[in-house]
Amino acid sequence: MERITEFGLAPTPETYELWFVYFSDTDPDLNKAINDALDENDGVIGDEACYEIYQEFLSGHREEKRVMQAGDAIQKTIQDVNVVVSSTKANVHEYNETLERANLGLSEGKNKEEITIILADMMEDTREMIKRNSELEEILEKSSRVMQDMKRDLEVARKEALTDPLTNLANRKAFDHEIYRLVALANDADDYSFSMVLMDIDYFKTFNDTFGHQVGDQVLKLVSRTLKQGVKGRDTTARYGGEEFAILLPETNIIGGSKVAELLRQEVENKEVINRSTGKKIAKITLSAGVAEYRKGESVAELIERVDRALYTAKNEGRNRIVFSRTVG
Ligand code: GH3
Ligand code: MG
Ligand code: MG
Repeated sequence: MERITEFGLAPTPETYELWFVYFSDTDPDLNKAINDALDENDGVIGDEACYEIYQEFLSGHREEKRVMQAGDAIQKTIQDVNVVVSSTKANVHEYNETLERANLGLSEGKNKEEITIILADMMEDTREMIKRNSELEEILEKSSRVMQDMKRDLEVARKEALTDPLTNLANRKAFDHEIYRLVALANDADDYSFSMVLMDIDYFKTFNDTFGHQVGDQVLKLVSRTLKQGVKGRDTTARYGGEEFAILLPETNIIGGSKVAELLRQEVENKEVINRSTGKKIAKITLSAGVAEYRKGESVAELIERVDRALYTAKNEGRNRIVFSRTVG
């Protein structure tokens, strides 16, 4: 907190996390990066440098850690259960012997005293067995709860691994899964088309330089929400790069794809962006887009290259527009 005040840093959760990790001394590389930045800049560090260090060391590492912790917990639970099961096995074996001894003793027609002793032994061992069984039950129940928690955690981690943390959109990895799935689908079917849209925010660098990364991030979130809300549930909206978004539209030809892209372009253009810290309106946000329909037989790289070229044309023709790649030729 002292450092955040001292350097006048933005009091965001990311900034707190960065300094928390720094002072907890758990990541030598992160500490070195901060110390180097401090050395280079006369003992001062700004938001920009903090942002970069955060991106490099902290964003995205969380789910990895979570998966490892889940793995450790599962291993420990398996070991605990193993110990109990082995000792129970030994007990069952012993108990079996007791029962056999009693069976033999009783069938040999012993006298009353001898039978009393055999029965007393048997009762004691039975009580012991019941006690151990209920212990085992308790332990198994507990481990089953642990496993269930782990399963849930892993599901969350898996989802996080496919999600971009800033925008909550699908990340590049999720996009790759989906595009390969659609290409396979299109090549297997007789008549299946899908389209891809690639969008890039116009002059975003200038925007960042003028208003700062924090506001830039706010805009990325707003654009992401707008895109996501503007498409169907089966469509995949992904953060393709820094300020680039890719949308996959199953069962959609170039006409449909272009319509969707044009509507999204308009939606974004009409959004009002308010700077949260000043309450003032910020310049209009626009984006350019390339659209292409998949051609049977072409590779993922070829499709992406066509969409990319269309986007490039849209930029060159003045931005804030969509350009589609011709379906034939
Ligand atoms: P163009 O219209 O040609 O696309 O111009 P541009 O300035 O948007 O293009 P360029 O690719 O030169 O710049 C992209 C900028 O996007 C660089 C960086 O400042 C910004 N950017 C990329 N990722 C992020 C991010 O995660 N957060 C923020 N705030 N800015 C980002
Ligand atoms: Mg770009
Ligand atoms: Mg751009």
